[in-house]
Amino acid sequence: MSEPLIKFSNVNKKYGHIHALNDVSVSFDKGEFISVFGPNGAGKSTFLKLLCTMTSPSSGDIFYEGTPLKKLKDDFRSRFGVISHQPFLYSELTAMENLTFYAKLYGVQNIEDRIKELLGKVELYKRRNDKVRGYSRGMLQRLSITRALLHNPYIVVLDEPYTGLDTHASDILTKILVELFDNKHTIIMVTHNMKQGFDASSRLAIIRRGKLVFDEKRDNVTLDEFEHVYTEAVS
Ligand code: ADP
Ligand code: MG
Repeated sequence: MSEPLIKFSNVNKKYGHIHALNDVSVSFDKGEFISVFGPNGAGKSTFLKLLCTMTSPSSGDIFYEGTPLKKLKDDFRSRFGVISHQPFLYSELTAMENLTFYAKLYGVQNIEDRIKELLGKVELYKRRNDKVRGYSRGMLQRLSITRALLHNPYIVVLDEPYTGLDTHASDILTKILVELFDNKHTIIMVTHNMKQGFDASSRLAIIRRGKLVFDEKRDNVTLDEFEHVYTEAVS
């Protein structure tokens, strides 16, 4: 057996006296799409931040294809595409200028073609020369998805990406996620949207009070069963 893509081994994260993540051991393989659910304050965002090396554990180890976090080279971060509430966009620049800036930062090849391709997918191509300041929330979110995917990261991490999206933007996001999944990217998404998360993913997890209390292949449960499990798990 080859090493899992990402492996948590007894990972703890404490912020002062708050035990945000409590002794979590779990592995993810390439090509999985994991949807993570749980109440507010459960430790979901902390889990994602640890996973994409934005923060490090208080104790325990995280391994990436067998290599411990401490021994990773800096360029490892470029394997991740992170989509969170923060758009990381400059409001005084146009979409094209924002994306060109990030594409150069990430060392993307054929920058113009790549940007055009992605802007087409998120239906912002016509607005490419407008300043981001005038964008709606849905447009901003779509542009921030584009920014996160510019360098074709093979691990995509999303923290409540559907929050605040209108139906149109949600549908575009789902379409993009399905396509990434088909192309064997690994996706880890925190969401409160039970149906979207269930339908899209191959694996379901629930975090409660810093603990991973449920972890199952999606095909082993129905949506009804999962909703029931969730209600039981968080009550
Ligand atoms: P979730 O994403 O599930 O809502 P978080 O991972 O954001 O949960 O937070 C888990 C716990 O850790 C919460 O009690 C939160 O207040 C706390 N926490 C998260 N980040 C920090 C931080 N940077 N400093 C102090 N406490 C934090
Ligand atoms: Mg959160």
